[in-house]
Amino acid sequence: MTNPIEINKLYFKYKNSPDYILNAVDLTVFKGEIVALVGLSGSGKSTLLNIISGIIPHIRKGKIKGEVKLWGKETKDLKIVDITKRVGIVFQDPDTQLFSPTVEDEIAFGPENLMIEREEIERRIEKVLQAVNMEEYRYENPNNLSGGQKQLIAIAAILAMEPDILLLDEALSQLDTNGKKRVGDIIIDFKRQGNTLVLVEHHLESLSLADRVLELKDGKLKELKGW
Ligand code: ADP
Ligand code: MG
Repeated sequence: MTNPIEINKLYFKYKNSPDYILNAVDLTVFKGEIVALVGLSGSGKSTLLNIISGIIPHIRKGKIKGEVKLWGKETKDLKIVDITKRVGIVFQDPDTQLFSPTVEDEIAFGPENLMIEREEIERRIEKVLQAVNMEEYRYENPNNLSGGQKQLIAIAAILAMEPDILLLDEALSQLDTNGKKRVGDIIIDFKRQGNTLVLVEHHLESLSLADRVLELKDGKLKELKGW
């Protein structure tokens, strides 16, 4: 069995960065595992998630060395559309992710691109809106929502694509206690179904969901024991 995520001796720098941001990073994430990434601002957490999601090197460029594999295949050899079918990423700033006139359209967009039938899309819209407790906002314009509500819709929109790997990049930052609890339940459920999750987080209550917490520091990834 190949692991969902396997990274070996990964080095990365942006074109204009003087030093390597990731410096011999090794990471294996097992099926059904929740891994949390912590580290100071600028330590490269978002860069690493963008590499796992294939955004780097397919959309954003830089100097990259080493192996990054999803289920045994190197991301650079996969098509980004094929990665998108199985790997969902939610960014910290929901405004970079939301662009549709209604919440419903926003959630339908991903599945539509995956050529999923209308009836199934309808089922998913209802399911994910219920999961984030935002059913009553279905016909709302996302621009009219609060930051936390936008984050919930961004998460719902990615969940509607039913990914096998979910990457959350500080995607809970604007949620209140209730919202965090909702997403916590979603995460536990996601894991229970045998899916894999990498989350970048600061809040302890979210870190407590993780099977392992890893710290990114000086371009290296180290397991944090007894955090
Ligand atoms: P974190 O998510 O841990 O805060 P990032 O991955 O966003 O860290 O950034 C790591 C480093 O890479 C920072 O020094 C940041 O300024 C730099 N960086 C991030 N994105 C780019 C980019 N598109 N081009 C050049 N440098 C970048
Ligand atoms: Mg970041």
